Amino acid sequence: MQRSISLRDTRGLACQKFTVTSRRPQSNSPELDAQPDGLAHKARAFLEREIDLGLESLPVVTAKPQPPRVAPPPASPDSAPDLLLEPAIREAVSLESLRGVLGDCTRCKLAGGRKTIVFGVGNPSAELMFVGEGPGEEEDLQGLPFVGRAGSLLTDIITKGMGLKREDVYIANVIKCRPPNNRNPELDEIAACEPFLRKQIALIKPRVIVALGKFAAQVLLRSRVPISKLRGVWSEFDGVPLMPTFHPAYLLRNPADKRLVWEDVKQVLERLGRPIPQRGR
Ligand code: URA
Repeated sequence: MQRSISLRDTRGLACQKFTVTSRRPQSNSPELDAQPDGLAHKARAFLEREIDLGLESLPVVTAKPQPPRVAPPPASPDSAPDLLLEPAIREAVSLESLRGVLGDCTRCKLAGGRKTIVFGVGNPSAELMFVGEGPGEEEDLQGLPFVGRAGSLLTDIITKGMGLKREDVYIANVIKCRPPNNRNPELDEIAACEPFLRKQIALIKPRVIVALGKFAAQVLLRSRVPISKLRGVWSEFDGVPLMPTFHPAYLLRNPADKRLVWEDVKQVLERLGRPIPQRGR
């Protein structure tokens, strides 16, 4: 399978075109590829990593013509993934405007089966953000993340374990729509939805992210390492410290592992400079 992807620089100018195959992206500008710090080099590295993880296609983005800007914003060192974002996502300045960009989303096939989009909930300036997998049945009905049985356990972790209120933190998922019969989200669905999570994180600017479960941790860290090995070890997502831990639904089935989650939670509280509640010590 072959696809052509045009990358645009921060002024909206087409700067590089890649043909993405299931093996390696081929650039049309070998001379740009040769520049180790150039956008083409970063974009190539980004696409190669995605393809290694199984990506076969990206959502088609039709860029609206951009008015010329007086001074282009400086490109961040890791801006290659940003170049693949819909311009409207990149330019959203608040969670509300980002929710507006998401709209009544039909970017992937999950749109047909969902009842409600579950965007996320909580403090828009939260220091602590939790990221789960995707909505289940109850979340799909209510339009809120983590409101079923696993959600009650997450609420206990936040309130009883961490001494925080649910409203203090922000809770979101990698996928905003419920997959049929709660099946695992597929790669094209992740590719369509993850830019919204990435932008939520950029807008909230949490001091710490907790990735709940294998799926969230592996997607955010671009890793295939099992959650049993990832958990309890600090990582980073877009420069934000990230602690992977077990998913509350897993804990409902394996309550003995709650003690490992307490260990992870204590590390998070220490990192935030917050007291460890007595029962969590
Ligand atoms: N599981 C998740 O990963 N997210 C939810 O919102 C609910 C259950």
